[in-house]
Amino acid sequence: MATVAEQDLLPEVQSFLARDQFHAVIGGQRVASSRGETFETRDPGSGTLLATVANMQADDVDRAVAAAQAAFVEADWAGLPVNERAVLLHRLADAVEKRLLILAQIESLDAGKILAQAEGDVQNFVDTMRYFADLAQHVQPRIALAIKGVEAATVHHAWGPCGFIVPWNFPLLLVGWGLGPALAAGNTAVIKPAEDTPLSAIYLAELAQEVGIPDGVINVVPGLGEVTGAALANHPGLRRMSFTGSPEVGRLVAEACGRNLTPVKLELGGKGAAVIFNDVDVADTADKLVEAITFHTGQVCCDATRWLVQRDVYDQFVDECVVRLKNVRIGYQRDADAQMGPVVNAKQRERVLGYLKKGQDEGAELVLEGGAAEVSGREGFYVKPALLAGSLDNVAAREEIFGPVAYLAPFDDEEQAVAMANATDYGLANSVWSADLGRARRVAEAMDASNSWINAHNVFSHGIPYGGVKKSGVGGGVNSIETLLDYWWHQSVVRPL
Ligand code: NAD
Repeated sequence: MATVAEQDLLPEVQSFLARDQFHAVIGGQRVASSRGETFETRDPGSGTLLATVANMQADDVDRAVAAAQAAFVEADWAGLPVNERAVLLHRLADAVEKRLLILAQIESLDAGKILAQAEGDVQNFVDTMRYFADLAQHVQPRIALAIKGVEAATVHHAWGPCGFIVPWNFPLLLVGWGLGPALAAGNTAVIKPAEDTPLSAIYLAELAQEVGIPDGVINVVPGLGEVTGAALANHPGLRRMSFTGSPEVGRLVAEACGRNLTPVKLELGGKGAAVIFNDVDVADTADKLVEAITFHTGQVCCDATRWLVQRDVYDQFVDECVVRLKNVRIGYQRDADAQMGPVVNAKQRERVLGYLKKGQDEGAELVLEGGAAEVSGREGFYVKPALLAGSLDNVAAREEIFGPVAYLAPFDDEEQAVAMANATDYGLANSVWSADLGRARRVAEAMDASNSWINAHNVFSHGIPYGGVKKSGVGGGVNSIETLLDYWWHQSVVRPL
């Protein structure tokens, strides 16, 4: 088994990983679990132990929320002029950007992410901080309302301590999507990273102290979902909650927030479609969709996992995809020539393989076999890309697999394609592929999901709202002004004249 030391890591990464135990960051202090409990995080590409991490308990979460409340009130984070908060967020962005390779190596090791993709995630974090730091300075805190007979205005206020529960597929990037708007608006944060990938959030919270963000503004409580996550979701001291993860856990978090009447934003799973018409460049479309389904080994909520293809180009499209998927270079995530790394853990590999079996049991055809993959010298969790085909009334076409598996089905005309794309409980992201841009726009707008892309899949930019409807989420607008506005509550002040 390879060890971490063998892997040509930056000295800063080696010294970061050399700690006996990783602690929570609460009110600027490194804090162990009150019960002394720990859990382990492993490199998904080699199975090697990366770190032992504090498993924070409910009373630890209490302390973290109290620290966030103290930073909100006593350190007066919300009372800082907006440009001074923005300066600190830019300093954090600068500091992260200077350490881009360090954080990318940590993320790549912890999440099993291809190194170049991890670098992209870290850069996205930097861009998110800068986007919200700049945007917040252009929003008027007080807006006079022109109403007959009254002097009236709306005034916005930060909420206070906000909770963030995040998944393992984009650990730092998603922390950024939460922290950027929340902190720019004057709120403070308690983050519960996923148990598979706690390291980048801990690194970040320590770095935030170095750039002068007041203690308690960013708190990180690592731990298991049903303990630490549940304690945070249930905490009455939070003023807002944001959850990113599976619909099953999202429902539990929403129930807990409902009991406390804490507003909650949910970013959940997806079962996106790519609708491919017969006027496309088939080879080019196959290139792009194969790239999308293998990106981060298919562990991407907004992926196109149902490929709906007009009947007369169906066979050609399938053949082009099979050739490409067979040639995907599966390898250790930090090897320069690897295109697709491991999935995050053994359970996730079993999940992917299980869906291939369940799908076939319900009648799907296995077009490309998939299965477990071997990577020489590495005892990680590798899977091969797979293709299923058949009726969409199949478990593998209905449920989120979260691996490099696409489900194919032919369609005859536009109306049928839209109906098939919309025949899902999810509503996150779809794409439509056609040379006829009028038709492409029509189909894009008819698809029952928050994000529709044309002749591309996975197109993100700060300023374009991202979110989900149906089983994919509640309260979208991520990475746009909508989310920033969400992180203020709005007050009317009125005097009759
Ligand atoms: P998950 O729901 O299992 O876990 C997400 C987080 O919730 C983790 O931090 C986990 O520890 C915590 N958690 C688990 N049980 C909990 C409980 N009882 N109470 C409170 N917290 C608990 O999801 P995952 O497997 O880590 O991530 C994959 C899922 O995330 C997929 O469904 C994917 O589509 C979704 N996702 C959505 C988006 C989006 O923007 N819509 C982005 C990334 C991932």
